[in-house]
Amino acid sequence: MPTEHILRRLEQLREHDLPTHGGRTLAYVYDSGLADADELGKQALAMYASTNGLDPTAFPSLLAMETDLVAFARDRFHGAEQVVGTVTSGGTESILLAVQGARDARPDVVAPVMIVPTTIHAAFAKAAHYFGVERVAVDVDAVTKRAEPAAMATAMDTFGDRVVLVAASAPSYAHGVVDPIGAIAAETSARGIRFHVDACIGGWVLPWAERLGHDVEPWDFRVEGVTSISADLHKYAYTPKGVSLLLHATAALRRSQYFASADWPGYTMLNATMQSTKSGGPLAAAWAVVNLIGDEGYLDLVRTALDGTAALVAGIEAQDHVRLVTRPDSTLVTLQTDGSCDVFTISDEMLTRGWFVQPQMSFRDMPASLHLTVSAATADAVPDFLVALGESVAVAVGAGPIVVDEGLRAAASSLDPATLDDEAFDGLLALAGLGSGTGQVTAPERMAPVNALLDVAPPALREALLTAFLDRLSRPPRPGADTLTE
Ligand SMILES: *Cc1c(COP(=O)(O)O)cnc(C)c1O
Repeated sequence: MPTEHILRRLEQLREHDLPTHGGRTLAYVYDSGLADADELGKQALAMYASTNGLDPTAFPSLLAMETDLVAFARDRFHGAEQVVGTVTSGGTESILLAVQGARDARPDVVAPVMIVPTTIHAAFAKAAHYFGVERVAVDVDAVTKRAEPAAMATAMDTFGDRVVLVAASAPSYAHGVVDPIGAIAAETSARGIRFHVDACIGGWVLPWAERLGHDVEPWDFRVEGVTSISADLHKYAYTPKGVSLLLHATAALRRSQYFASADWPGYTMLNATMQSTKSGGPLAAAWAVVNLIGDEGYLDLVRTALDGTAALVAGIEAQDHVRLVTRPDSTLVTLQTDGSCDVFTISDEMLTRGWFVQPQMSFRDMPASLHLTVSAATADAVPDFLVALGESVAVAVGAGPIVVDEGLRAAASSLDPATLDDEAFDGLLALAGLGSGTGQVTAPERMAPVNALLDVAPPALREALLTAFLDRLSRPPRPGADTLTE
């Protein structure tokens, strides 16, 4: 296949994706609006694409850039000289490693437990699942959506010696609020338990927000008892995807994160991360972009994003039928409706107007909501966003709340996904509007009816249905079918 043809195909394939730039995609992507930073990031990514972080002595460039980034973050997070860190592939990997490291630091514990607020990122559930650490989720404050230190302390006492880790968010993804890190840290340090602060999305915002005079309660290494922090560079550091940081307060706390194996005839494998061979591209790109933008540059970007968030908040407060779920502590805004319409219809309507907002399903006593991540490039577009939102809400109110068929609702709540076979899933996917019943699936034009149905399904069924959907979606084309290049 000629290069030209392949490049054209690559361009065409991208046309069906959400735009990564322009500020109209309010989840998944982060746009600084700085063309030079994007260009430099791509150049560095390509320059280092073939390097291998497997062995830092073979590629000392990668080690130098990694420790440089860790030092940059350490200083912003008020860490002492003893702070160490690792560059990982993303927030999930940072969190997996924090949990694995905490578990393996306590080999004496037979049935390890982590205590987290219910609002902690799902990556902790993944870590619990992968590493056999029981995840005990404690309800958050019903109004502020912040973790409740007293309730978490009670859980710490209930599980006693089995607790290997406590974690909280700065801020939480779903509601954008910073948990009371100081009060939780007082409880963990009194008991000698590790305390991880998940600043995956806030790590590159909060330090500068504080300097800009925003009200930011201490959440970082200033707080005694915080033992590790995760912070994603591929979010608000605006670097290409594939880079996060996991920082530990001391080298001793990091030790159990390493994996070594000399128990085979090949090289001694020695890894600080889950990946072994790993491209140096994302790390080099992150190093380049962080140094190009620099401390002062991030101050400007954070100011822009926070001003945009404030404008967005004011605009939402001025609209009928939608309201904030809680006051945001940084750059994430969550809204819900007054019951006269459905958030799922609003998100569909926004998409037809060129805006992506992320639906969040109802959870316990929290109704379904919409998540908006405001990056610097979104700030200028907030007035346009609010116009589109007003129109979308009006359409959604006209349509009224989506009514899920009673029979379907009853069926959904009585089904046990563990008892369903492939055929049953095909039938259910067809009922949900996600397939034809024959094992073929397609994402429908309008997601609202599907989302509304999934929303009434118990979480376990929702997980199982969406897994079945993804499984069918991600099967290779039949032998003899047209290939992508045709
Ligand atoms: C994004 C995010 C994560 C997970 O990070 P990935 O890079 O998507 O793996 C974890 N915690 C919080 C608070 C996040 O915002």
